[in-house]
Formats: sequence, structure tokens, C-alpha cells
Amino acid sequence: MNGFGGFKIDHLGIAVRSLEIALGFYRDQLGMQASEPETVPAEKVKVSMLAAGGPRIELLEAAASDSVIARFIEKRGEGLHHVALRVPNLDAVVERLRAAGARILNEPRTGAGGHRYVFVHPSSTGGVLLELIEEHTN
Ligand code: ZN
Repeated sequence: MNGFGGFKIDHLGIAVRSLEIALGFYRDQLGMQASEPETVPAEKVKVSMLAAGGPRIELLEAAASDSVIARFIEKRGEGLHHVALRVPNLDAVVERLRAAGARILNEPRTGAGGHRYVFVHPSSTGGVLLELIEEHTN
């Protein structure tokens, strides 16, 4: 068997120093639709989503100095932070990855919008932090 199917790119996460400055480009200059910035306390980030057809672009600003986004920008500067994929059955995927020795960074948890997700460490994925989001089937 070659894979399971059902995967979709949900969004690309971009780490920025300032949402206000980034929205000045993506929303005001480029003209994209952007959601009102929203703080996600569990991740210590402030987020705005940009509509881009199907998959979206997620702009991420650190909401605290010990946020993962603050550490990322300190080390590597602004830029692509993660790729988010929707998966058909998150628990099955996590189990499969754990059994294969992939580095899952958190237990599945519920984020903004009620979606369950995990992150997979770049050392397992070809150098890009990977967010796996459970596909809602309602
Ligand atoms: Zn994300």
C-alpha cells in the first residue's frame, strides 16, 4: 500500500516580529483578507489568518518573550515557521508516527476553532516543523 490519502495543506505559518507590520504588507499593500488578530494563550502567540483560496497563511507574532515564536525569530529571524496538514484520523497518525520513532512534540490538544493538533519536530520531517490538524468530519 502506498499511503492513506486524505491529506490537505491547511495553512503555512510565518513567524513575524510584528503582526501590525506584516498586516501592513499582506492586508494593506497586497490586499488579502485577514482575520482580526487573536491571542492563543496555550502557544503564547498572536495570530492573524490570511485567506488564500484553500490553504491559508497564518501570521504568528510572539505574545511573550518565552514564546516559541520569540525563540525562533531570535535564532533564525522572521520566516516560514511551520507547514500545517489536515489529516483524516489524528490519533491513528500519531500512533503510526510514534511507533516509527518520529518526534511528536505534544499530546494532541485542542486549538483555536476547536481543532485537535500536534506538532512534529523538524528532525523527523526534512527540516520543517510540521503541524498535523485533525480533519473534522461533520
Ligand atoms: Zn499553525
